[in-house]
Amino acid sequence: MSPTPPLKLYNTLTRGKEAFVPLDPSNVRMYVCGPTVYDFAHIGNARPIIVFDVLYRLLRHVYGAEHVRYVRNITDVDDKINARAAERGISIRELTEETNEVFQADVKALGCLEPDVQPRATEHIAQMIAIIERLIASGHAYAADGHVLFDVPSMKDYGRLSRRSLDEMIAGARVDVAPYKRGDMDFVLWKPSKDAEPGWESPWGRGRPGWHIECSAMSWKHLGEVFDIHGGGIDLVFPHHENEIAQTRCAFGHDVMANVWMHNGFLQVEGEKMSKSLGNFVTIHELLNTERFGGRKWPGEVLRLAMLRTHYRQPIDFTVKALEEAKATIDDWGRATTGVSPSVPTAEFVDALSDDLNFAKAEAHLHMLRKSEPAALAANANFIGLVLPRFISSDLAIPSLTISSGHVTVDAHATFGDHIDAEVISIRERVDKLITVRNAARAAKNWAESDRIRDELAAMGVALKDNKDGTTTWEVKR
Ligand code: AMP
Ligand code: ZN
Repeated sequence: MSPTPPLKLYNTLTRGKEAFVPLDPSNVRMYVCGPTVYDFAHIGNARPIIVFDVLYRLLRHVYGAEHVRYVRNITDVDDKINARAAERGISIRELTEETNEVFQADVKALGCLEPDVQPRATEHIAQMIAIIERLIASGHAYAADGHVLFDVPSMKDYGRLSRRSLDEMIAGARVDVAPYKRGDMDFVLWKPSKDAEPGWESPWGRGRPGWHIECSAMSWKHLGEVFDIHGGGIDLVFPHHENEIAQTRCAFGHDVMANVWMHNGFLQVEGEKMSKSLGNFVTIHELLNTERFGGRKWPGEVLRLAMLRTHYRQPIDFTVKALEEAKATIDDWGRATTGVSPSVPTAEFVDALSDDLNFAKAEAHLHMLRKSEPAALAANANFIGLVLPRFISSDLAIPSLTISSGHVTVDAHATFGDHIDAEVISIRERVDKLITVRNAARAAKNWAESDRIRDELAAMGVALKDNKDGTTTWEVKR
């Protein structure tokens, strides 16, 4: 196998594709802005979730799973949440819990790995207050009328990410005029709460945070003052990411907040902007569980493949036809690889993805393999798993696994075209995690713990093999 070429990523900050050099290859750190939990996530929201899941898997492949830390937050304090909870007559907590539960189930069905941390904004108020205090102390923020605002002109290179001058921003923005604001572009870090609104005690009275400060606080807590990759949809470049950068850099005094800023293009549906009034607003939940879009339910992996076929930075037109085409491919690969034993994978697939996630090239390679010999396609099962978890690993994908009452059994007749079995993914992760813990126990000569984990896995139907080279492989007992 040829050595993997360096990973190249397009950086919005420099507007160019660059070789990716992590700050610390043993701790590669990525933050992606997560959902505001007040309503079902739509298929546009699915795009950053899927794109950054592929990047997460690729980083884990290149640097080792234990050397990558992926943080995707949950925004559970926001005025949209307050309004929706009032509308539905339920508490804020009920609304955010219920919405988050559906979101977690949706992304699992899309075959996405769980991020290492999913911090909630409401659990990071102390960090937000700490950053705001630093900003006030260094002259980058001011308190007025129970509000705290970021003083935009105090930052010399504000606007570097979106490449707009302050004058252009003022001309283009719907500027909120408020008596407590010194400058037109100054934005809210903290605002006062009325009794009925959620609020926390702070040096500026009872109040709640602005949206941007939430991500600065959570990324700081879980990834540090400076980290490697920050991602989200293209709509977040301005003002959200620009303001995150302003807060974090001015609070901690670094030149950057994250080295690489990545943004996915927008999604529209059948040629039109997705909107409730046009009736083309489709949630992930509906796509997976109802026949509303194209007259049938769509497996998560079909949505995933359809989404990845357009380069992540391009706009995407999401159509029923694209879903049908993706389904035909997945069914075909499934038929071609059922019962075929995987061998040594080729590197072309990962090489293509390493070029700023060039999935089209990676997929072309798979089609080439499909034509030449199905065994070669199956040989790539591990790599295909980077994008289509159904194929995630030779030992799990062929034949597929089903789970009954906590035990793993083998279903030799299952095909890849079936609905994605998200539980298979979680079982695989669980096994990988247990093996990592067991290896640590072995390294510490804690044989009792190591044997206990072996037994636990055996009870799940998983047999371990400790190899001479120090690695541990596993297989499902038939
Ligand atoms: P929001 O809930 O609107 O803050 O969006 C959550 C994430 O989904 C952000 O990263 C947005 O940039 C992204 N997003 C929202 N709408 C779309 C869309 N139509 N296409 C692609 N990404 C989107
Ligand atoms: Zn954010």
